[in-house]
Amino acid sequence: MSILDKFSRVSRAYRCPVCGKFDWCLVSRANPQDPEEVICARVESDYRAGEAGWWHCIRPNTCPPCDPLIRVIQPRKPTRDFETIAAEFECAAADEMIVGLAESLSVSGEGLSRLHVGWASARRLERLDTRCHGRGCWSFPMRGADGAIVGIRLRSEDGFKYSVKGGANGLFIPSELRNEDGLLIAEGPTDTAALLDMGFSAIGRPSCQEGRKRIQQYLQRIPVPHAVILADNDGPGQQGAELLAGMIRLYCPDVRVISPPETIKDARAWKQSGATGDEVMQAVNMAEKLSLPIARSRRR
Ligand SMILES: [Zn+2]
Repeated sequence: MSILDKFSRVSRAYRCPVCGKFDWCLVSRANPQDPEEVICARVESDYRAGEAGWWHCIRPNTCPPCDPLIRVIQPRKPTRDFETIAAEFECAAADEMIVGLAESLSVSGEGLSRLHVGWASARRLERLDTRCHGRGCWSFPMRGADGAIVGIRLRSEDGFKYSVKGGANGLFIPSELRNEDGLLIAEGPTDTAALLDMGFSAIGRPSCQEGRKRIQQYLQRIPVPHAVILADNDGPGQQGAELLAGMIRLYCPDVRVISPPETIKDARAWKQSGATGDEVMQAVNMAEKLSLPIARSRRR
C-alpha cells in the first residue's frame, strides 16, 4: 500500500489546509474539499509520513495515525543531565561577573539573569568533552517547549558560539515571562536579553534557521495573542523568519515579522543604537499581519 492510495495531491481547487499552498502536499482522498487528514510538505508536526511530509489531523480529537507509513518522531533524549549542569554553571556566575558581561554586551544583568546565564570553566568543559580555548565560557540553558533543559549554549569570551556536547538545540526562555502580552521571538540569548530590557516578553531561538518546531510546540502549549519575529538584517535572517512565520501562523492569530532599520544588524545593535520599546512597537504596528491559514479560519 502506498500513501497515494489514501491521499491525493492538493490542487488549485483543493489547497493544503495547513500551509495554504496548492502543490506538493496531500489531503485525504475521500474528502479533499474538507479533509480530515493532511500530509503537508512544509509544516512540521510530530508525525512524519516518509518523504511526503508531516501528518496533520485537521479535526480536533482525531486519533493519532495507526498507518504504518506514518511514524511518530521521537524527540532525541539528551545524553546528559543538563538541568543539573546548567544549575551548576548558573551558581558559578557571580553577580559581578554578570555585570561585566552585561556591560560588554550593552544589555542589563537582570535580563541575562532571567535567562539563567552561567559560567563554565575550561576545565569543567573539558570534563564534558567540550573544547574551550579560553578560561571558560558563558552558558545559557536551551529548553524544550515544556521548559525542560535539553542543551546548553556556550559563548566564549571573544563571542564564539557553540554548545556543550551531547545536547540538543533549544529555546532561550526567560523566567517571569508574561505570555498574555504577546511574544517577541529573537535569535540567540543576547538578542533576547536586549528585547527583555526594552520591556518585551521575549524568547530566543538557537539561530535563524533552527527552533521552528519547538516554537510551534511552545505556542501550542501556551497560546499568545500575537507573535512578532525579529529577523536579523541579512538574507538568512529574513528567510529564516519567513519560514518560521509560515509555520506558527497556524497557532497564533497575529504573526508579524520585523527587522531593525537597514543599517542595524540585529536586536542588540538596535538597542545599542538607542532604540526604545516604543520604536520597536512602531515597527510592529507597521508590519503586515499574516493572514490566517485556511485550516484555522475554517474551524469554528
Ligand atoms: Zn501544506
